[in-house]
Amino acid sequence: MKQNNLKNKIWIYFTFFSIFILAGLWLFQVIFFNAYYEYQKTGELTRIANKIASSYTTNTFESTLDEVAFKNDVCIEVISGELLRYSSMSLAKGCLDNNAEAYTYKKTFIESGLSRKKYSIVNNRFKNKTLIYAMHLEDDVYIFINASLEPLGSTTKILASQLIYATIITLLLSFLLAYFVSKKVSAPIVKLQDAALEMSKGNYTVDFTSTSDIKELDDLANILNQAKEELSKTEQLRREFLANVSHDLKTPLTMIKAYAEMVRDLTYNNPEKRNANLNTIIDETERLNLLVGDLLELSKIQSDVDSLHLEVFDLNTLILNILDKFKYLEETKGYQFIYENKKELRVLADIRKIEQVVYNLIGNAINYVGKDKMVLVSVIETSNAYKVCITDHGKGIEKEKIDLIWDKYYKVDKTHQRNTYGTGLGLSIVKNILVKHNYEYGVESIKKKGSTFYFVIPKEK
Ligand code: ADP
Repeated sequence: MKQNNLKNKIWIYFTFFSIFILAGLWLFQVIFFNAYYEYQKTGELTRIANKIASSYTTNTFESTLDEVAFKNDVCIEVISGELLRYSSMSLAKGCLDNNAEAYTYKKTFIESGLSRKKYSIVNNRFKNKTLIYAMHLEDDVYIFINASLEPLGSTTKILASQLIYATIITLLLSFLLAYFVSKKVSAPIVKLQDAALEMSKGNYTVDFTSTSDIKELDDLANILNQAKEELSKTEQLRREFLANVSHDLKTPLTMIKAYAEMVRDLTYNNPEKRNANLNTIIDETERLNLLVGDLLELSKIQSDVDSLHLEVFDLNTLILNILDKFKYLEETKGYQFIYENKKELRVLADIRKIEQVVYNLIGNAINYVGKDKMVLVSVIETSNAYKVCITDHGKGIEKEKIDLIWDKYYKVDKTHQRNTYGTGLGLSIVKNILVKHNYEYGVESIKKKGSTFYFVIPKEK
């Protein structure tokens, strides 16, 4: 349906356009031809009169008159008092007979006292029109320029008959041209449309490359191709995400079930084994809790478009509080947290969300800590911002994976071993929060040497 619409539309517009042009041509060539001819001639007479007037005082006046009369095929008469001082009668046709009619307009003009005037009279003898330009040069000197208008009846007829052929040929040509143009434009659009339809059904292998030489269509094809890439990437991520989430939900659930059964059937009488089993159940529940919490957090951040509650707070206190929460690791597992800033760091941000960022980054540094078990937190101050860096000396991240770790559910180690930490959502949450704040962030990492995650937060004055 649409395909025909576009084609027909182009065709209709094209036809209308040519009809419009042809109608204009008819109007000017046939209907207004006489009026236009008269208008042109009047313009010519005015120019001639100006030329004569400017040469009046020169001694080439008479030869100018001759030349002008001859070249333009007009009749010029100069009258001084009652006398005819000059007449170009012998040079050009178009002079009025010196009859009563001619005498009348000359007299009327002389008596009117005007300096210039145009008359248009019909010659009684030949019924043709004559234009007269009358001009008062000085005292009793007057100039009359006559130009007879050729009878145009036959010319108009010839033009009209020629125009009939021209119109038929032009209309036929424009029909043909419109047909080909519309076909050329609509064909690639239809092709793109078919491909888009295919993509909407979930087929991301379609190709949108346009074969037309129309720039807009090529651009559209490129944009559609990009959209396709993005959609297929999202689709793939969604599938991976779902697979990962179900896997990570299923594993602890299976474990919980197995250990609960073990307690019920086997170890209920053995306090030591029973407690060990129950502890595994509690650990796995904790793991589930963590995963569900992260999922909720992420969906909340992503769905809530304008959810930043900005307030001024001290970033230093925030970091110290978070480090305090991890302090037990220093005592029980020999970790070392180094943070030396003592100064107040006033910033304007969503405190709860920034807390989450710092918490996740320190959490990761702990999870991927090196043999030295050292986590460094530092703040680099610039004139208008603080760069918060969290460094560990762990295994680091490979260069080609650095951009991927921020993706939802991405884990460098894809095997999902039971003993790897985290849910794969931590950095995705960090990224979402920082993007929402419009803060610069990133990671510098060297394989086997460690990583430094950072974000830059503007100062609040
Ligand atoms: P996870 O819960 O798996 O830690 P994250 O989103 O926090 O998920 O991190 C994504 C991946 O980035 C991790 O699986 C890990 O491979 C890598 N990663 C994050 N932080 C670090 C770090 N400090 N050192 C090395 N690798 C890291």
